[in-house]
Amino acid sequence: MKIKKKVLIILISISIVILIAVIFFVISPKVRFIENLEVPINKEYYNLDAIKNIKNGKIISNKERIDTSKLGNIEITIEIKNILGISKKYKTKIKIVDTEAPNIIYKNILTTQIGKEIDLLNGVEVSDNSNEKINVVVEGEYDFNKTGEYLLYYVAKDSSGNIKKEKFTLKVLANGVNESYFTTSKGFSGVIKNGVTYIDGYLVVNKTYSLPSTYGNGLTKETMDAFNELKSAALLDGFNIYIASGFRSYDRQVTLYNNYVKRDGKNAADTYSARPGHSEHQSGLTFDVNEVSDKFHNTPEANWLKDNCYKYGFILRFPNGKDKETGFKYESWHFRYVGKELAKKLYNDGDWLTMEEYFGILSIYED
Ligand SMILES: [Zn+2]
Repeated sequence: MKIKKKVLIILISISIVILIAVIFFVISPKVRFIENLEVPINKEYYNLDAIKNIKNGKIISNKERIDTSKLGNIEITIEIKNILGISKKYKTKIKIVDTEAPNIIYKNILTTQIGKEIDLLNGVEVSDNSNEKINVVVEGEYDFNKTGEYLLYYVAKDSSGNIKKEKFTLKVLANGVNESYFTTSKGFSGVIKNGVTYIDGYLVVNKTYSLPSTYGNGLTKETMDAFNELKSAALLDGFNIYIASGFRSYDRQVTLYNNYVKRDGKNAADTYSARPGHSEHQSGLTFDVNEVSDKFHNTPEANWLKDNCYKYGFILRFPNGKDKETGFKYESWHFRYVGKELAKKLYNDGDWLTMEEYFGILSIYED
């Protein structure tokens, strides 16, 4: 009997101890931190950001910004209080790392004339998240005394070994050649070669981009070949398409434009006739067909052209309702040769896009 009682007391005691332990375990606060935490150097980071979750407790520690300006380990301490008011400190380590390469600001095409050395690092800027001063070097071979295109690299390396390599081209031009480069708002590269603008390789003429007065001498062979193809296809469908107005020289456009200005005033003339140098007809890639007037709109011929011209490399250059983009009102008779690839893109399943929209360029006179 006595032994039984003793055993019972022991068992009860053990149970109580276990129960207390369980209760204590259940209510004791617990913090879990994000494991193997790496934070980029100079990143805005707070002590509380390192916490994954908290059990049975409330954070006492204030939100504090961590100094992330130096590489290496940093210890973080977080204090937690449970419902009984018992507080405890927890520690973790975060590692400040630099895995980001420097950023180089540069021009992707540099030009010079033969024999004229230029500083390839002029205007090149480099920044890095580590805030260190980083030097840029040029990699690749080039010769200022030999015309050509040299593919080169700007290379920048930070102290953590992160390397950034950016490709650029050095063009050494022959004397008398003049080239300048730009990038459109849609990211296409443009070049102005001796006064003629090419975007993504396509010649562009509009109110913003002009042609030199000496440019052009008739419709180009590829334009004529493509037109003959189009003409044959139209005939098979029962339509007679003919060129009413093809190439127009700069001088011819001077006369035309001035006459329109005399008749309708400059503002009106600018909506339907290009100023000299700004007419696509001078490019040799453009023509007007059949009836050059609003009466041509919606004729079977105009509709056939609108739906089929792209198959032969032509675009409806001034689509209906795109006056703001092209700078010109709807011209159902005016077609421009761009080749089949671009023509199909601009045809856009029947919802014609303008060159201006596609390339991300404007068509506005400077003055
Ligand atoms: Zn025209």
